[in-house]
Amino acid sequence: MLDEFIHEPRVAYFSMEIALRNEIPTYAGGLGVLAGDTVRSAVDLMIPIVAVSLVSRAGYFHQQIDAQGRQIEQAVFWEPERWTRALDAKIAVPIEGRTVWVGAWLYVVEGHMGGRQPVLLLDTDLNENHPEDREITHYLYGGDTVYRLKQEIVLGIGGVRLLQALGFNVRHYHMNEGHSALLGLELLRRYTYPTEDVRPGESLYDLPRVRDLCSFTTHTPIEAGHDRFAYDTVQRVLDNDFDIESIKHLAGEDSLNMTRLALNLSEYVNGVAKKHAEVSNAMFPGYRVHAITNGVHPFTWTAESFRQLYNHYIPGWCHEPQLLMRADCCIPDAAIWESHVQAKQHLIEKVQTLTGVLLDPKLPIIGFARRMTAYKRPDLLFSDIERLKTIARQHPFQIVLAGKAHAHDENGKHLIEQLYAHAHDLAGAIRVAYLPDYNIELAQLLTAGVDVWLNTPLPPLEASGTSGMKAALNGVPSLSVLDGWWIEGCIEGVTGWAISDAAGRAENDGHELYDKLEQVVFPLYYSNDRSSWIKVMKGAISKNSSYFNSHRMMHRYATEAYIR
Ligand SMILES: *Cc1c(COP(=O)(O)O)cnc(C)c1O
Repeated sequence: MLDEFIHEPRVAYFSMEIALRNEIPTYAGGLGVLAGDTVRSAVDLMIPIVAVSLVSRAGYFHQQIDAQGRQIEQAVFWEPERWTRALDAKIAVPIEGRTVWVGAWLYVVEGHMGGRQPVLLLDTDLNENHPEDREITHYLYGGDTVYRLKQEIVLGIGGVRLLQALGFNVRHYHMNEGHSALLGLELLRRYTYPTEDVRPGESLYDLPRVRDLCSFTTHTPIEAGHDRFAYDTVQRVLDNDFDIESIKHLAGEDSLNMTRLALNLSEYVNGVAKKHAEVSNAMFPGYRVHAITNGVHPFTWTAESFRQLYNHYIPGWCHEPQLLMRADCCIPDAAIWESHVQAKQHLIEKVQTLTGVLLDPKLPIIGFARRMTAYKRPDLLFSDIERLKTIARQHPFQIVLAGKAHAHDENGKHLIEQLYAHAHDLAGAIRVAYLPDYNIELAQLLTAGVDVWLNTPLPPLEASGTSGMKAALNGVPSLSVLDGWWIEGCIEGVTGWAISDAAGRAENDGHELYDKLEQVVFPLYYSNDRSSWIKVMKGAISKNSSYFNSHRMMHRYATEAYIR
């Protein structure tokens, strides 16, 4: 079953979450979607890769929302046997002194251009395991820190061992975020110096060799976002043949910091946008953090109507999305508009089915959808309801929202309730729909079907953001705070618009947002001559999607991180 994959040397790409397809709920948000797009681009570009993640049988939860806007979370046990194939091999890792067996499911990502690359979904739900251990791979980001540590042992240490047991020839290890950093400890154990060569007080481990084998991508610009484990927990849970003193040297004296461990074990480290790399360099003095700005997979995030358009006017765009830079000159305005009208119609139908809200295809739609959490400020658009109503009297518009709040994120859940209350307050003035259970299918419909894609994070907390890139592929301009990728992507009035206070005061962002909508965005949308609006749509495609795609991103990982 694995014969086609095990002979050629491969990059092992480790990620706690991965978005493979809508039916497989092994992702929570942007990190998992990025992992999926990474593999999808590797498939198209024939870059030999093997992704390693957890099977997350209980899925990331299914979201329902009651009439008051309260989120209800339901576990969705998906069936791995339906979409993947069980592999025979299993390996053991000691956890809390018990032997935990780890098996895997094989999912093969198949590209529309014929490529194939394997994904291993690790699973501890095996008969031979203690009932408690069978649940280690069930809940994505579920449980307490001990549960998280067990998951990270299975992912990092179990993953490396299983790749070896299956006969994979791994030439490089890529950690997508710090969750998998324990893989480096397993590699240190594999690559030790012969004991007779080691003088007292010197390390037994061949650290330079391991560093040469590893790359690390950090995604979190806040300290609190990094996993840390107390050493007494580590000592109780982790295999005790690791020398805790050596671990402290690599992962921090006070607690095991997974980001620090990953930094010390990787020769190549990068952040996910230029600004994020700067922020990370300031956060981690003494390390060199490169910048590889994220991208999105061209075919996956382009609506059918735009795929057909590009196939006709820009053949080869799927393989070489740089070609999309020609979109501004080579595609007639009417054809762009027609593709947009179709994508918008699909969204409007979905919104009606899911919420009963009927949107008007003639009025502009503002879209905002992503993980609902405080720093993304989903309530910024509603910070002055009267002002919003005034704007709508002059330039009518509609709003579509979506997003899950993490089960433990009380603030995030409260934000959804507030959004529901705002929608209620706006009844009769502005149509607002909140789509439940945001997932990749809804993201495809939303990022293509709205007229303006809104993003309002509190800088510098948005490491990159990717959904605006999905919008750009479908000719949807962004209106966004200057943070993450938008600092690189925004050319004012050409690819979209910035929400920015000249003095950088975040508390003014609400006013700036309203001013931009009232004075720039809507007047342009409603101008007699539609060609000015279409010019911005074309600017988003030609200037942004030609660059902010995962093919370009993978070229950089391949040439700078994997081949050095
Ligand atoms: C793209 C995507 C995200 C990430 O959106 P950001 O704008 O980067 O926060 C989250 N969830 C889903 C389902 C997505 O498709």
